Amino acid sequence: MTIENMNVSEENTVYPPNPALFNGTAPKPWISSLEQYREMYKESIEQPDAFWTRMALDNLSWSRPFTKVRQGSLDEGDVAWFVDGELNISYNCVDRWAEADPERVAFVYEADEPGNAQKWTYRRLLQEVCRVSNVLTSFGLRKGDTVAIYMPMIPEAAVSMLACARLGLVHTVVFAGFSASSLAERVQDAGSRVIITADEGLRGSKIIKTKAIVDEAVQSCPKVERVLVFRRTGNEVAFNKDRDVWWHEATDKQRPYCPPVPVSAEDPLFLLYTSGSTGKPKGVLHTTGGYLLGATITAKYVFDIHAGDVFCCTADIGWITGHSYVVYGPLSLGATSVIFESVPTYPDPSRYWKLVEEHKITQFYTAPTAIRALRRLGDSWVDKCDLSSLRVIGSVGEPINPEAWLWYYNKVGRGNCSVVDTYWQTETGSHVIAPLPGATPAKPGSATLPFFGIDVAVLDPLTGKELEGNGVTGVLAIRKPWPSMLRTVGGDHKRFLDTYLKPYPGHYFAGDGVTRDEEGYYWIRGRVDDVINVSGHRLSTAEVESALILSPSVAESAVVGSPDEVTGQAICAFITLKDGVSATEEEVKKELVAAVRKQIGPIATPKILIIVDDLPKTRSGKIIRRILRKVVAGEADQLGDVSTLSDPSILKVLIEKVNAVV
Ligand code: ATP
Ligand code: MG
Repeated sequence: MTIENMNVSEENTVYPPNPALFNGTAPKPWISSLEQYREMYKESIEQPDAFWTRMALDNLSWSRPFTKVRQGSLDEGDVAWFVDGELNISYNCVDRWAEADPERVAFVYEADEPGNAQKWTYRRLLQEVCRVSNVLTSFGLRKGDTVAIYMPMIPEAAVSMLACARLGLVHTVVFAGFSASSLAERVQDAGSRVIITADEGLRGSKIIKTKAIVDEAVQSCPKVERVLVFRRTGNEVAFNKDRDVWWHEATDKQRPYCPPVPVSAEDPLFLLYTSGSTGKPKGVLHTTGGYLLGATITAKYVFDIHAGDVFCCTADIGWITGHSYVVYGPLSLGATSVIFESVPTYPDPSRYWKLVEEHKITQFYTAPTAIRALRRLGDSWVDKCDLSSLRVIGSVGEPINPEAWLWYYNKVGRGNCSVVDTYWQTETGSHVIAPLPGATPAKPGSATLPFFGIDVAVLDPLTGKELEGNGVTGVLAIRKPWPSMLRTVGGDHKRFLDTYLKPYPGHYFAGDGVTRDEEGYYWIRGRVDDVINVSGHRLSTAEVESALILSPSVAESAVVGSPDEVTGQAICAFITLKDGVSATEEEVKKELVAAVRKQIGPIATPKILIIVDDLPKTRSGKIIRRILRKVVAGEADQLGDVSTLSDPSILKVLIEKVNAVV
């Protein structure tokens, strides 16, 4: 089974929508049948103006209604939505709910140290957002200016984002695990005059010297005039009186109200850099109206969020997932969002599940890397917790291997939850392919069907010709603009056109390979750049990796092509083992070769199998195959940008291991 002639194998059992969603104990799903989904989807594609007008008016509050729904095209790269409409995102996410129900909890803040959860009501959130907005105004910032946010996962990070949005400032959040030079590069690129940060961060009881990193970064950012510092740990940090301002001192002086500044739907909201899985990160620019609408309605329909729900997304706010599903989506729906500061294994690997138990979380959203890591550590951690509050559990960031999907479904969901495997990108702003809990039968490993308004096309990678019908594999493209798509790459519109719109004219090019199966379900096959070509057979990384992870010994796997004189490329597989595996390396390798031959076919037999302790990953937890590919090709001296690597120290060991084998 290669990606050209993939068939649907026995692993693809279909999981119908969970009956517990319909037995009256849970709120009735917003979309409660496949027919309803199909009808709405059809309308969204065939009558987009009517569909999006309704969505925009039903779900958002506009200070000035729009008369024009959309303009521009993918050919021209001048897409705009709701252009003459005006709104304020912080009003939509905070004031709406603070006015209606001030005591409702906006954030549950679960600090690094367990047992200290804090609840923030919408009233408190509004007051704090307003105070920070007033501080930013006092710094002389005006609509259109950019502010960099480099903060731990604490409510004040979200407050900072919302305070920017309240004034029409453009925020650029940088994940607080990045080094000083990566931070400086992003601050410079975005042209920020102000950085908001904290004294220190805490993750898994480890102290992160956040402010010290900012101090170092600012040395090469001459434009930065002010650094606003939130006191998180209270430890002594260097303080430059001419430049630095304490958050608590500055906010104490400000009144807890600040009028929201109405902005155009097309005014920029934020600039955010992609994870850097495939090379140098791109500064993706999102605007106000379309982005908020995308985040809001995907949160509503894909997670099926209802009043009273407690939603938990474990992504850091430094990534798009944190933007759309920790902050903007859930708050725009008036839900309660959990802000989790720690790591899944601190103080022990039951942390996530205890969190669910304690806060009665109804939707839980995390990444395959976390699911695989927890699966690796054994079931006892999850088995002992009460997870009965959960209805929907989600996955994002990488293809989820069917084996990991099943573990999530059975162990975390107890066979009683809908698993939503959500495919999307920083660039798409919100989910583009994902199941809807009450409507879409799920297949483990498939992101299932497109979200409303997303007109997916599968293209032949070489000719760009559209592959019509079902049972096809090619590159994933989108044929029509959608509201939450990126508008440009910050300061480099040409790069935007060249990367996304020019490769296949008339389409948005996502850079991922995809299969549309016989039933029209989409299976993301991995990055287009990662496809392996063995004797003319194109194999997807996701498929071979999923075959490897079926082995009870394997925790994670990454496959890449290595140069081969006979076959062009040969399969080189890197694997990490689960805890407590007693088989020898030779036994494991033999078993894996047999498993891949059986699951896919002899063509996919790994020629080289390397057992490692750790795989190279981005700071958001995605495997970087590009680095493995270079290392096996003997080009370890040409790795390109490795600043997005979460643990650069693994490179040395990896290179030694590969050199010993290849
Ligand atoms: P860069 O663009 O800088 O290389 P990146 O693509 O990792 O980094 P993100 O925008 O964070 O940056 O990630 C989007 C990518 O993540 C998608 O293009 C896809 O490859 C992968 N992805 C996200 N969700 C899923 C999913 N549910 N299934 C499969 N792949 C996914
Ligand atoms: Mg990308």
